[in-house]
Amino acid sequence: MRLIFLGPPGAGKGTIAKRIVAETGIVQISTGDLLREAVKKGSALGKQAQQFMEAGELVPDRLVIDLLQERIAEPDCEAGFILDGFPRTIPQAEALDNSGVKIDKVVNFICSEQTIIQRLSGRRTCKECGAIFHVENIPPKKEGICDRCSFALIQREDDKPEAILNRLQVYKKQTEPLIGYYKAQDNLVDINANQDVAGCLRDTQMALSLV
Ligand code: AMP
Repeated sequence: MRLIFLGPPGAGKGTIAKRIVAETGIVQISTGDLLREAVKKGSALGKQAQQFMEAGELVPDRLVIDLLQERIAEPDCEAGFILDGFPRTIPQAEALDNSGVKIDKVVNFICSEQTIIQRLSGRRTCKECGAIFHVENIPPKKEGICDRCSFALIQREDDKPEAILNRLQVYKKQTEPLIGYYKAQDNLVDINANQDVAGCLRDTQMALSLV
């Protein structure tokens, strides 16, 4: 099963992808995670990507397309994958189509701006293991400390208020046109992502005929 999870930042794509991965054995490919890893390592790609990411801008297409194509060529992707956060522009979607990768379904997470801002501004991330918490919705057992590895939780630079607003504008301008692109391919299913995780997961499972 090869899937694309489309939707604004904060819609819950990553959270639902992790749950689907746990029950199906396909892999989650988050270009955001791959880029954050590159920044952490200080690789050439990381150095080029960092300033775009911190400002909430998109990293240039050619960098992200190369990164994604390398990743999906790895053996663990043979059984299937969820692309979480890719494509984010029409040229990225065209590059994927042109590479001959056949996508079974595009899941479109629809979420209100109010919900997105509440989720992103309260999100806290473990710098060590990447676990995600939320100050109100998913609080860690001990404030500011990761439940999994006990390292300190941080607020991502791009989860700060100015960057959130920019990310929303970038989404509207550059990523939302993909909804029309995949509708035209008759490949899109809508999910109400304003719900809690359980509701959103159930609707996604139903849309993918997993239940
Ligand atoms: P995410 O974790 O998916 O919200 O991504 C974090 C940041 O990584 C984004 O705000 C972009 O700067 C960058 N990024 C992730 N995926 C892409 C992509 N497909 N195209 C361009 N930039 C991306």
